[in-house]
Amino acid sequence: MLNTQLVGAEGQVLGHRTVDEMGRHELPVSPQNYEVWLSYFTHSSPDLRAAVDKLISSGKTVTALDMEELYERFFSTTHLSTQVMETGSRIAHEIADALDALKKAGATTERYGATLNVAADSLSNAAIDGDALKRLINVLAGATTEMSKQNSSLSTKLAQSSVEMEKLRTSLRQARAEALTDALTGVANRKLFDETLRLRKEEADSEKTELSLILADIDHFKSFNDTWGHQTGDQVIRFVASALAKFALPDHLVARYGGEEFAVIMPRTPLKEAGRIADQIRSAIEAKRLVRRSTNETIGAVTVSFGGALYASGETPSQIVARADECLYLSKRTGRNRVTLENALPPMSASNAA
Ligand code: GH3
Ligand code: MG
Ligand code: MG
Repeated sequence: MLNTQLVGAEGQVLGHRTVDEMGRHELPVSPQNYEVWLSYFTHSSPDLRAAVDKLISSGKTVTALDMEELYERFFSTTHLSTQVMETGSRIAHEIADALDALKKAGATTERYGATLNVAADSLSNAAIDGDALKRLINVLAGATTEMSKQNSSLSTKLAQSSVEMEKLRTSLRQARAEALTDALTGVANRKLFDETLRLRKEEADSEKTELSLILADIDHFKSFNDTWGHQTGDQVIRFVASALAKFALPDHLVARYGGEEFAVIMPRTPLKEAGRIADQIRSAIEAKRLVRRSTNETIGAVTVSFGGALYASGETPSQIVARADECLYLSKRTGRNRVTLENALPPMSASNAA
């Protein structure tokens, strides 16, 4: 650092002169001040000599602050390299933080851009004129801008695809719901009935709970159709479906089993309770005075016959359906507009029927 000649008698004289000069200007004897005055007397830097001469000739008192500025201007190489190193480690730190943020699963990619921006900010704010540092700043700032652009377009893309995915999911859900719904009545179709009965049967087996099945068929519907026409017939089918849905409990499944036949799957329901609900539905339908929508004519009432069976552990879905159907047939044979449960069947008739 000190390349001045401080050896021998001449050196001693120079040293004393330097210290005396600091005393004359009432400046603290510090290594920095010593270096400035030594350089002045040895003419090691013409620029420094000129700057000090200018200061002295101004007639003003040379202050500690003036000395600091002189030192900063002419001997700050070491200081600069320290700053470069400090800033360099700050960059490394910031980038490490950014990488860390990127690694964290929950962190968005935007945070990467934000952290790099902070790194670039602190670099730009450091008042350093080192060329290497400036180049580094430019490279980093450029990379940061690029990364931010990429990240924001990536984020936009991700947001767009997530919206698209959500739309897709909704339309798939709607398509599945449509595929399992009866278009005329809005209740479950035969496909959903089959699927649900299979699931409820497994559930009853594993939970050891009671599963009841009700089948329903509109009475004398053929003649009703013949009298009032197919469209009015459809209106009646819709009315019966709505009556079933109205009295069914939330975990029951009402389905259109076929033309004018319906089914209600009742999980965790004893047969007696299933029969009670079926009879509620029956009497509500019987009580309703129907009006032909197209002409406003009164067309009277329709009645519905019911059959109910209880799932017997281990049997197939078609076996319980067959027993419920047999009960329904019994309701038809014994006057219609009634509910028949399988415990009302004559013994052995379920397995021996057909
Ligand atoms: P029962 O009391 O014995 O059940 O007599 P039914 O006349 O209801 O018996 P059947 O099963 O022979 O008649 C059912 C009729 O239901 C036949 C068909 O014309 C009619 N049908 C079936 N599906 C539909 C439909 O979607 N709309 C209309 N309007 N009629 C239908
Ligand atoms: Mg029928
Ligand atoms: Mg019928």
